[in-house]
Amino acid sequence: MDANGTNVKSRFLLPVLVMAICAMVVAAMVMLIPPRMGAPSNEDIPLGDQEAIADMLSKIDEAEIHDTVFALQDLASRHYGELGNAKASEYLYGRLSNIDGLTVEYQGGDIRNVIATLPGSNSSSSTICMVGAHYDSVNDADPAHAPGATDNGGGVAIVLELARVMSQHTFENTIQFALWNAEDGGADARGSEVYAQQAADNELDILLYLNFDSSCYDPDGHLVLDVMSDQRSQWVSDMMVQHNSLYAIGFTLTLNAHDCWSDHRAFWDQGYPAVMTHQEDHDPAHTSRDTIDKVSTLYAKKNGQLGLSVLARLAQLS
Ligand SMILES: [Zn+2]
Repeated sequence: MDANGTNVKSRFLLPVLVMAICAMVVAAMVMLIPPRMGAPSNEDIPLGDQEAIADMLSKIDEAEIHDTVFALQDLASRHYGELGNAKASEYLYGRLSNIDGLTVEYQGGDIRNVIATLPGSNSSSSTICMVGAHYDSVNDADPAHAPGATDNGGGVAIVLELARVMSQHTFENTIQFALWNAEDGGADARGSEVYAQQAADNELDILLYLNFDSSCYDPDGHLVLDVMSDQRSQWVSDMMVQHNSLYAIGFTLTLNAHDCWSDHRAFWDQGYPAVMTHQEDHDPAHTSRDTIDKVSTLYAKKNGQLGLSVLARLAQLS
């Protein structure tokens, strides 16, 4: 109409417009963010649980990690289809079977994933917290010599340590410890893909899959650890940042500095929250130089501590 009328209208319209936009943004965020997402707070962890978790972290043993990696690299090659691959599955089945409280199975038919279950104490909960690592190895230049100490004997050793330590406690939710075959190829599908597909088909309630791969090479003692998450698992990165300082683990954490394929992606593909932690550099992976002398057991221990702290919190001590 005239200049005055326009000014009155815009003075009135602007706040309404801002409020409407804010309301739409909030509504969009509520729709996008899954209920478990969001930065955690220290107050969410009862002090008694913090002390129990800290005690568990202190039980992760570098000598155990060293011995497991040594036994695995001693099999010459764990390449899918090599004799050492089958021997590794039997060795790992035996190691997990010797831990009280776990039930152990081969899963996935010929692919022979090895999966151990620590049943939750709350029979009305179907929630599963899961941790895993692939046990096969690869050396394209010489498949018969693939010691795979850092890739991925170290990750397997961490999972075995978490199984040993966590099985001495009782949790509300079920925890599964998975050792995957054929991550580095050789089969029609990777072991984790076979599992994650079945989990989705059966509508399993997996709260988190935590992957250990490339988890122990730190030649210069930098203690830099990358946390690889997607939108569905951003909350786990937040939790790891918090726990890294709460439990004085001492990593310098980076977020999504790496972007490589490993078993966590099989879970992403099925819509499950999954996270992988990753060392700073790959160097000896997939070569005959990937031997036990490249493994930092201190780095592996700290990596395992960070993972255990998250799993124990999510699984909820009984
Ligand atoms: Zn690997």
